[in-house]
Amino acid sequence: MSLSAQKIKKTGRPLVLDPFFRSVRALSGVGPKIATLIENLCGSHYKDLLFHIPTGIVDRGYSPPLSKAENGRIGTFTVTIINHIPTTSRSKPYRVRCQDDHGDILDLVFFHARKPYLLKLLPLNEKRVISGRIDFYQGIPQIMHPDHIGLENEKDDIQGLEPTYPLTTGLSQKVLRKHILSALKDVPALQEWHDEALLKRNNWPSFYQSLSRLHRPQKAEDIYPESAYRMRLAYDEILSTQLTLALNRHHNQATKGRALPLSKTLKAQALTKLPFSLTAAQQSALHEIEDDIATPKQMLRLLQGDVGSGKTIVAFLAALHAIEQKGQAVFMAPTEILARQHYEGLSELCDSLGISYAILTSREKGKARAAILEDLASGKTDIIFGTHALFQDHVIFNNLQFAVIDEQHRFGVHQRMQLTDKGNRPDILVMTATPIPRTLTLTVYGDMDVSRIGEKPPGRKDIDTRLLNLERLDALTTSLKNKVDAGEKIYWVCPLVEESEKLDLAAAQDRYEYLCRYFPAEKIGLVHGQMKGTEKDAVMESFKNGAVDILVATTVIEVGVNVPAATVMIIEHAERFGLSQLHQLRGRIGRGDKDATCLLLYPPHIGETAKKRLETMRETNDGFIIAERDLQLRGAGEMLGVRQSGEANYTLANIFDHQDLITMANKEARLIVEKDPHLQSPRGEHLRELLYLFERDKAITYLRSG
Ligand code: ADP
Ligand code: MG
Repeated sequence: MSLSAQKIKKTGRPLVLDPFFRSVRALSGVGPKIATLIENLCGSHYKDLLFHIPTGIVDRGYSPPLSKAENGRIGTFTVTIINHIPTTSRSKPYRVRCQDDHGDILDLVFFHARKPYLLKLLPLNEKRVISGRIDFYQGIPQIMHPDHIGLENEKDDIQGLEPTYPLTTGLSQKVLRKHILSALKDVPALQEWHDEALLKRNNWPSFYQSLSRLHRPQKAEDIYPESAYRMRLAYDEILSTQLTLALNRHHNQATKGRALPLSKTLKAQALTKLPFSLTAAQQSALHEIEDDIATPKQMLRLLQGDVGSGKTIVAFLAALHAIEQKGQAVFMAPTEILARQHYEGLSELCDSLGISYAILTSREKGKARAAILEDLASGKTDIIFGTHALFQDHVIFNNLQFAVIDEQHRFGVHQRMQLTDKGNRPDILVMTATPIPRTLTLTVYGDMDVSRIGEKPPGRKDIDTRLLNLERLDALTTSLKNKVDAGEKIYWVCPLVEESEKLDLAAAQDRYEYLCRYFPAEKIGLVHGQMKGTEKDAVMESFKNGAVDILVATTVIEVGVNVPAATVMIIEHAERFGLSQLHQLRGRIGRGDKDATCLLLYPPHIGETAKKRLETMRETNDGFIIAERDLQLRGAGEMLGVRQSGEANYTLANIFDHQDLITMANKEARLIVEKDPHLQSPRGEHLRELLYLFERDKAITYLRSG
């Protein structure tokens, strides 16, 4: 069954969803000022208001006789207004004296009040329901600026449980709630997109029931993350993401990929030329990749492994399968330094295998660049290393069959697709050293298969990590002399100062000059983000093989740089870094056979929590544990650097309380797409509504073109 023309809009969005996409400006009582506040707070559509869910509850059910009212509690009282006592001086408030049925007094207190307004709001001798925080003044209970003043027949509404929302300055709970409730009245209940059995099993109510219960809770538990209402909505949101990823995966892979025969000679030759044998973990990852290569669907695989676990060689060996079939391979890195390191690190192996290789970054210019591009287009180049520059339109491959993308989190899904367009649906291997927890992997990379290298090559030592107060800087610097004399190399990382490269640079320059007072200047190097590529290279080269013993760097020391003689990593203001980032930096050392030390410098006034956080680094060298801790502390988006792309950002779900739902939705989404890849079944039609509701535009593109 397909959607009939009348039922859908030009955008493809089913008409039944229109009310959800009405502008908040259409709500009665929402003028331009309030509208802007709401838009900034949660978004511009009704659905954004509805998805803005409460984080707390105020219980207004406390309603004792006034004589028994307790100080400080929020209560609701039905009273008769008996007197208005206007202000006598500016500093004194306006009082409205009231009385309950027992004749006990309650004063309502207003500062900066206007008499006509209050007379209208609280007319003499009439009954009103008042709710607010009680306190006592000269023995008399009073409520200052009541939260609610209503008629007697509004008592039930006022006295219930009142959800409280995250706010923004200028917008009050009362106003926000009012608009949320009126948006709620205006949207329809939608047809169910989940299986009956799933709802039964979990005891989940409908989408509409869930939304409306969150905004009109009947008990405090209703808004807890584990309530059926929250779970249901969280699952909806998560499923919409997972379905998007599954559709992406299906429509990318199903179409054209091809099965390649596996390499008969190149790979075997390469293995004999390596100075080591692969670890079991490397071998099993390589097998998984080879299985993908040998099947006709397009590979989309994530290769996860801690820094130094040996991903690069695995990826290279995998690329040889394509090269042996006269296909081309691309090896992409997020930065120039890393690209060059891959290029140089693998050049000897390429030479000995008779493979032609090249590099393309923004630095290759003029004639040299033209020649590289020509060889690539003609098919003369077997493997090309490079950066983002390889995404440019004029970069044409003859027959791209295998793509390796290092450090994925800096490349977006979009770029991954761009790359796919350049080749004939090449197999794609994404490598990341960020040891992403499994839940998060599914959230961000749900469309990928995952291989993990969970073991490091033998002989690696754990790095000794210590915390050191910055006050002891001079002592530290003096102690470095021994290391330097012994030919060991030292990284000295200066922190991010706000988001400004200029300030970063200033901090690094200061430190450079400081060190020059202790050591001969030629032994100290400085790299930072504003240097030219060639300048950076020269300093790095001199650190790796030359006179420079101490390398002062802003955070530009690229993940992955390999300097075996480096044994000390000093990180200043370590408290400003994410734990995973610290772990990455720490991974730069301990690559040789000498003991390695990582020193995390913190300022004297550091807080307890911040210090605890740093202690994690001392306690473990396990990237996965660190990543889990980091995730808890900082949230998903920040950890992956995907904040802008919003891929890991949920509104209704959260990654801690709803982990199980993520796994569940990942499975279900794959099943759905297997059975109904264009969402054309009756259930599929409702699932489309789910996708539109959560604005999963990408999925929607597939559906339209499909
Ligand atoms: P990653 O990219 O995972 O951070 P690399 O691929 O850069 O790690 O590997 C780090 C170092 O370990 C490289 O010098 C590499 O040659 C070496 N290496 C890789 N695999 C092995 C192995 N099985 N045994 C010994 N050394 C290895
Ligand atoms: Mg690497």
